[in-house]
Amino acid sequence: MKVLVIASDRLGSPSPLTARAVTAGTQLGRVDLLVAGTRSQEKAEAGCCLHGVEAVLQVTHGPHFPPSTENLARIIAGLAQDYRWIVAVHDTFGADVMGRVGGLLETSPITQVNGILDSGTVTRPVQAGQAVARVVMKKFPALLTVRPTVFAPAAKTENLAPVRYLALPEGVLSGEHHGFYPSLSQRPDLNQAAIIVAGGQGLESARSFETVAVLADLLGGAVGATRGAVDAGLVPPDLQIGQTGRVVAPDLYIGLGISGAIQHLAGIKDSGMIVAINHDPGAPLHAVADFSLVADLFTAASRLGEIMMARKNK
Ligand SMILES: Cc1cc2nc3c(=O)[nH]c(=O)nc-3n(C[C@H](O)[C@H](O)[C@H](O)COP(=O)(O)OP(=O)(O)OC[C@H]3O[C@@H](n4cnc5c(N)ncnc54)[C@H](O)[C@@H]3O)c2cc1C
Repeated sequence: MKVLVIASDRLGSPSPLTARAVTAGTQLGRVDLLVAGTRSQEKAEAGCCLHGVEAVLQVTHGPHFPPSTENLARIIAGLAQDYRWIVAVHDTFGADVMGRVGGLLETSPITQVNGILDSGTVTRPVQAGQAVARVVMKKFPALLTVRPTVFAPAAKTENLAPVRYLALPEGVLSGEHHGFYPSLSQRPDLNQAAIIVAGGQGLESARSFETVAVLADLLGGAVGATRGAVDAGLVPPDLQIGQTGRVVAPDLYIGLGISGAIQHLAGIKDSGMIVAINHDPGAPLHAVADFSLVADLFTAASRLGEIMMARKNK
């Protein structure tokens, strides 16, 4: 049974999450890896040495813009008849592409898959992670987005898989690249960060949310947020962690002014260590935390910042 794994994209570069999607793919069958977008050559080189990858399909675009997610979905849909499974990581890119492929193939992607039981049955969390649904596939090709945190990265091997080039079909070229500019954010991506400092509505304003960013920068971590903070306009939606946001698994998660609603906990429960800072001792985040600080978040963050600065200056 053949599986097409769609390589992840991290700001246009190869993403380490691809190796995790390959592991999920190898549990279903023989894997071909599709790479596209900017730096597709680099992505092909990173992918062809992953254990379990039998061939790399590299979408080439010459000097033209790489295909948009919409056009990439058209390319994937065109390949679908050769595959029983099409798999992508459940991140912003993977969910976007697979939703579009599902539309073209008239089939619903099974999202956030967190287990593969056999070559026709997968599991996914439901009700904010309170239950696990077992899904028996009836229609193929089946589309899956997988939770990267539950699949170990595929090991590197010396046997390089061959690379096949796919030219962009007619009609998907929309312009030419005239330069690349570095991304303004130097912070790690939420899905890959070892440390995450997240803030909730307790921060009260976009300006005071800077407290979270300052602490994250001192720790070399990523910034996350609750849906409460997003809905209140404190931060953009791409920072949201939880059931309807990103599912993260850092070594250390620090939550400031976050109540710990079940939908938020669904996104952080795989964290190595959870630290809660909230002045309400009854906040549910305290109940799941490894370390709880019942304190005003601004006082605590400022004290933590001082300690970090003192350590850095030593
Ligand atoms: C279908 C559905 C999906 C959802 N998906 C998500 C999701 O993906 N992610 C998500 O996060 N939520 C999600 N929610 C929303 C969720 O139910 C909560 O409403 C939200 O998580 C609350 O955000 P919060 O913790 O920032 O705000 P609040 O619940 O208002 O908590 C703020 C906390 O800050 C504390 N605080 C205030 N001031 C201070 C201070 N000075 N010092 C210390 N502590 C302070 C308070 O004690 C309080 O506990 C979803 C809801 C639904 C219905």
